[in-house]
Amino acid sequence: MSNEYHDAQPQETAETLPQDKRASAFALLPLITMAEAAMLLDFSPEALVMIDAVGTIVLVNEQAAALFGYSKEELKQRSLEMVLPERFHVAYAAHLLRYVSMPHPQPLGVSLDLVGRRKDDSEFPVDISVRPVLLEQALHVMGAIRDVSTRRRLEQERLQQMEQLVLQSTLINLAHDAIMVRDQISRVLSWNQGAAELYGWSEKEALGRVTYTLLKTRFPVSRAAVDEHLEREVQWEGELVNTHRDGRTVVVESRQVLIRDAQGVPKAILEINRDITQRKRFEQAQTAVHTELLSQYTFLQQLLDILPSSIYVVHGHDARLVMANRAAASIWGAVWPPGQPMRAFLEEHAIRIVDTQENPIAPEGWATMRALLDGETVLQHQEMILRPSRSTMPILVNAVPLSTPHWQSLGVPEHSGYPQSPQSGEPLALVIHQDVSLLKEAEYFKDEFIGIAAHELRQPLTVLKVAVGMLMRQTAQGHGPRLALWQQEMIGDLDVATDRLVHLTDDLLDASRLQAGQLVLHCTSTDLVSLVQRVVTRFQKTTTRHQMTLHADPPTLQATIDPQRIEQVLSNILTNAIKYSPLGGPVHVTLAAFAADNEVEIQVQDKGLGIPRHQQARIFGRFMRADNAQATGISGTGLGLYLCHELVEQHAGRLWFESEEGKGTTFFLRLPLVPPGDVYGILIEEDKEKIKRTRIHREPNRKSKNDAKSF
Ligand code: ADP
Repeated sequence: MSNEYHDAQPQETAETLPQDKRASAFALLPLITMAEAAMLLDFSPEALVMIDAVGTIVLVNEQAAALFGYSKEELKQRSLEMVLPERFHVAYAAHLLRYVSMPHPQPLGVSLDLVGRRKDDSEFPVDISVRPVLLEQALHVMGAIRDVSTRRRLEQERLQQMEQLVLQSTLINLAHDAIMVRDQISRVLSWNQGAAELYGWSEKEALGRVTYTLLKTRFPVSRAAVDEHLEREVQWEGELVNTHRDGRTVVVESRQVLIRDAQGVPKAILEINRDITQRKRFEQAQTAVHTELLSQYTFLQQLLDILPSSIYVVHGHDARLVMANRAAASIWGAVWPPGQPMRAFLEEHAIRIVDTQENPIAPEGWATMRALLDGETVLQHQEMILRPSRSTMPILVNAVPLSTPHWQSLGVPEHSGYPQSPQSGEPLALVIHQDVSLLKEAEYFKDEFIGIAAHELRQPLTVLKVAVGMLMRQTAQGHGPRLALWQQEMIGDLDVATDRLVHLTDDLLDASRLQAGQLVLHCTSTDLVSLVQRVVTRFQKTTTRHQMTLHADPPTLQATIDPQRIEQVLSNILTNAIKYSPLGGPVHVTLAAFAADNEVEIQVQDKGLGIPRHQQARIFGRFMRADNAQATGISGTGLGLYLCHELVEQHAGRLWFESEEGKGTTFFLRLPLVPPGDVYGILIEEDKEKIKRTRIHREPNRKSKNDAKSF
């Protein structure tokens, strides 16, 4: 507040006025007596004060005294400075001096902020009009004083309101929302910049126009219903579809408020519209994609449900179910709810996963877990599901690790709201269980049949073999009539054919014994070197086109083995080395001891046909023969290697090979010098039993790359 008394300087000061002008100003002043003045002050409703030329209060009325908080007596004969704040005293004195030198009626405070001081030192704004008078012939000044606190406050409030209004309208215009005020019949009263931008109509163009006509508004319900709601609830919120000046559709989120006057009569409607056109489009596109994906997913689920194999997807380190098809429930014998960890599900239903010998498999060994935790692709793995009813189901498991993008490509959107959408980064696996009970049963019957057939053939074959042998021997010794050459050749052929048949039935019988767990080893301490020597020498006699060598280190080596069975294994490997090197060539046999491991290794190397790479993994399977062997017309049954492998494993040894088609093959046979549990050189019954059991339902041996051997 400025309180500058010197601001009120008259335009012309006493010094600047000519003498005659000053004299005539005095002559014009009203003449008044003290009694008249006192009466005037007493009767006036205004606060009046009369001061002399030096500023002493000569007269003061009740109103003026009350204004400053004094009594009339307290003010009389005191300087007017008493009712002025001290900081104005100097300016006031100068001003008074100037005034009395050129007195004239003057409303003080019209353009000034004058301040009065109350007795209690509080200050208040005043408005003062002064008039010079000649009281008892002497120059006096009469002042009418008005407390203008209320006026000033109102002015201040008005100013603030104005400022606020300016601010509001600036803000309204700054807002991106379209803000408009319309009257009861929807004519635009106010239209901000946001509305102009959103709809393409300027404020000038929009004012007075009916909004819903101008904007071709489409209401979610009827317009009447919106108006009715506004009337009843004072406000309405909803989506409106408007049209831009250029014809574009503009979707807005609209908020409308009914404004009433002090009497409650509806005056106008404030409408704030936010543009959600883009959002709506995006939402619609998203919904379309979502619907499409869901329908794809449903279709996929339907397809999976038709399949007879159990298919499920799990995620996370605890294998929580994402989805499963219908067959899964029938294989488990229980419904696995999505989200439940696999272990909890199995425990809840007392389901166990065991291997083919019904030994429990630790959770980390389950094909599902191997795919999930180790990222391993497990194919054609055999497991058994043991259900509480003790019913056992042999299953073939394929478990494949998936990545989250895989999952998305299946059609289920991540975060789609599906209960178990896996998060990216989490391990994910697809598992397929195939019930192979029927296959197993068929296999069992086949083995039974082979066993019976081989057994029934063995006896007449023995008779045949003995008869042919006797015929040959007797003929050679000259007993009976002399046989023609062709007859002798025929008996020779009969002998070879009978040998082959005996060999085949022996192999079949062995295979069936192995399947039934009835093949028992008869282990004794044997000099392995001389056994190998004997076999090599025997085979060298059968061929002239192959050069057989033996390198044995050490020269003798005792091992606890079943000598007949190991000779059978070695014979089969050497037969193959010769048979599958039809052009002849070297066959190297080496024997080396591995003292540290207490093991011996026999290698048989040929330079023959070799085994095609793509069939190597399955070559130890029953009746398995390589294509190149069959193509060259070399006869065989595909049983020999299977038996060799099983017999070696029965010895707790290992049989494997390295081969390159067209270059040759090397078979490796590793045997422990003393089988486990055979401390005294003789297998105790329990171990035999264990070995027997192990061999009946043997797991595919991964070391021999022979996973699918049994199927
Ligand atoms: P087979 O009676 O057919 O010889 P095996 O079980 O002994 O049966 O051998 C299985 C198959 O392995 C053979 O048919 C042959 O294809 C292949 N094989 C075995 N040994 C050799 C070898 N030394 N060289 C090439 N192929 C071989």
